Amino acid sequence: MFLIIILKKKVPSKYNTSVSKSDTEVSFVGTKEEGKEVYKSEGLTQPPPITKVEKEEEPPKLMIEPADPFDAQIPMGAVCTRKGCKAVFAGDDSRNEPCQFHPGFPIFHEGQQGWSCCKRRTMIFEDFLNFEGCTIDRHKFIPTPQKNENQCKFNFYQSSNSVNLDLYVKNVDSTKSTINFYNNRFTVSFTSQDGSVYSKEYKLVGEIKPEACTYSISKMKVNITLIKQPAKEWSGLFVD
Ligand SMILES: [Zn+2]
Ligand SMILES: [Zn+2]
Repeated sequence: MFLIIILKKKVPSKYNTSVSKSDTEVSFVGTKEEGKEVYKSEGLTQPPPITKVEKEEEPPKLMIEPADPFDAQIPMGAVCTRKGCKAVFAGDDSRNEPCQFHPGFPIFHEGQQGWSCCKRRTMIFEDFLNFEGCTIDRHKFIPTPQKNENQCKFNFYQSSNSVNLDLYVKNVDSTKSTINFYNNRFTVSFTSQDGSVYSKEYKLVGEIKPEACTYSISKMKVNITLIKQPAKEWSGLFVD
């Protein structure tokens, strides 16, 4: 065991940066036999253990939320809450349809986007959104209540012309986070330093001028300035 650790450390850095754990093991097998340059699986007598590779790269977070109970009351038009599935509830038949989705979480790494549950990656955000699910189960139209997790704290004050809003989200990576403004709402997608993503749509009680709204991201919070159109006092901020 000790020997293995030493050998792993000797793997040249150009391999270290890109090989997965199991590639490192492969290289060890080759090295033990003799040559140093055997980093590919061609030299192996057995095929590489593909399922094992996937497991090693995934953190053990793949808990699949149970599908809706068979007798759950589901409103017509409800959209499946599983990631990567866009099914819409259209009556009892929808209950037993297969749901193809991603049980993992989004990964953004060096410009590449994908899901933690499968290996596909892309540089293009739209492609990522359309990645077919890697797992099949039944749909889950009823969202799991997770108020505390999915609600970030906020604070705001308003004048008749504008709203100044702070959303408290920690360690947001400003290069991988965006806010889009629309007439009566805005959407946020924040990626934190650990790769987790917080996205949410905020519906506003009044209308805004999207192109005039601005935001800035700092370590502990995101500050947003909403420009109202027309200018008037709002009774609150968000709908719901
Ligand atoms: Zn997946
Ligand atoms: Zn589904």
